[in-house]
Formats: sequence, structure tokens, C-alpha cells
Amino acid sequence: MPNDDFQIAALLVNITETVLWPHIQPWLRANNHCIQLRCRVGRGQATHHTQQGQQHTLTFGRKMVASKRCARQARNWTTGRELVGRGYFSGNFGYAELMAHTCCHEFAHLVQSLNGWYRRGSIHNADFYRILDQMHQGGIADRVLQVLQLEADRQGLQLEFAQGVTADGETSENRAAQEIQWRMPVITGISQQQLKEQLQGQLAEFDYRGRKVQGRITRVHRKTVRIEDHGVRGIDYFRVPPSQLQLVDSMLQRTNTGQGVL
Ligand SMILES: [Zn+2]
Repeated sequence: MPNDDFQIAALLVNITETVLWPHIQPWLRANNHCIQLRCRVGRGQATHHTQQGQQHTLTFGRKMVASKRCARQARNWTTGRELVGRGYFSGNFGYAELMAHTCCHEFAHLVQSLNGWYRRGSIHNADFYRILDQMHQGGIADRVLQVLQLEADRQGLQLEFAQGVTADGETSENRAAQEIQWRMPVITGISQQQLKEQLQGQLAEFDYRGRKVQGRITRVHRKTVRIEDHGVRGIDYFRVPPSQLQLVDSMLQRTNTGQGVL
């Protein structure tokens, strides 16, 4: 989806300005920092923080957004390694998490520069990670992720890694479709559209942070389903791969045991 790249980069700009920037205003005031922030979408991969006097600029490269679409490539970026290595977002390595973390990473560079914690040849240093860890532990990173998912959803943007081709030649989209069918082996001979309609509104159960959560399937995406009415405070909705879902007391599930009809 090359056309989404610009829009997602623009979303990162927007979220930096509307979530992260207001968040540090009290800290800026308390420390007498009078700075201006400019956020922009860059044309290339370059994604960085630069400073000229009191003017700080954060650039989110359009080609960075595109490059990270590939899960394998994503792991080669510093932000990808951080996400995995430091276990941010409960260790979830998804495209949405990576984009949210990219916002936080660049913003942490801004805070780092204000603290004077830059040293030549030592940008990603212990002081930098102290800032980044705090952004994740303090909840602002979760907020960034939440707003990103809501906005992407509203704009119809997919926040998922690109579908690749696996070793046996299947696309991940096919695999996801098979996963749905694997959960419901009796349902054969119906189209994906019909399956989608059948799944919508179903009650489903999945594991979240070591406990069972039940919610309603409200949308079926290519590789995940959207779960609402789940009763978990502070989270609007979940996106769960079908392979991690169990249908609860549904027509579809009863069909599996041969006692129901579609
Ligand atoms: Zn960096």
C-alpha cells in the first residue's frame, strides 16, 4: 500500500504534535525551556531530530514508513531492535507498535538534547534509554499507540506488516484465511465474505496479559479481527489474529460440533 506511507508518516507528525508535545509542556515550563517544534514528513528514509537554536525539527521519512512494512527489514532498524530487545508494548512486535515507538524514539531525542545528554558518537546512550524507558513505563507510549490505532482506523489505513510470501509459497493473507477456517473446520465451501459476515458480532475469547478476555468481534480485517465490548479499562478495542481467538457460545462454534446450522 505505497499510498498509505505518506498518510502514516503524516499521522506520526500529527500525533507528535497533539499527544507528545502537549505532554511535555509542564516539564518545559518547569525547566524554562522556550523552544519551537516543527514536525514534518520527509521524502526519503531519514527519520531524525535536528536542532537549530531554539528550533527543533522532527522528520519522519516516508520511505522509513515503507521500509518498516517488511517485518524482516523492520527488525534491522534501531527502533525495531529496541522494541524486541527492551520488550516495549508487552513485547508485541507489530507494525502499529513499531510506528508508535518510532514517534517516541524521535521525541526522546528532543528531550535528550534539551537535557544536554548528547555526546559525540554516543547518541543512543544510557541517558537516552532512561528517557525512552520512562515514556513506555509512564504510559505516554501506550497513549501514542492508542491514538495511532484510532486515527488509522478512522482514515482506513492498515497498520500491519506487508503480507509476505512464506517458505512454502503461501501469502500470509492466505494463511490468515486458513487460520480462520482451521478454527472452524466444518465450515467449508463458503466465501471469505460470508465467513466475515458470520464472524461479525460473535463473542470471542483470547488471552491478554495472562488472563482470559471476552469481547465482541466488530470487524474482520485481512489478518486480524477487531474486538470491542471487552471490559478492559483504558483500551478501546483489540486487534487479534484469528489463530489466537476462541469463539464463545456462537452459532459457528456449535456448527463445529455438528449441532448447529449456519
Ligand atoms: Zn535515534
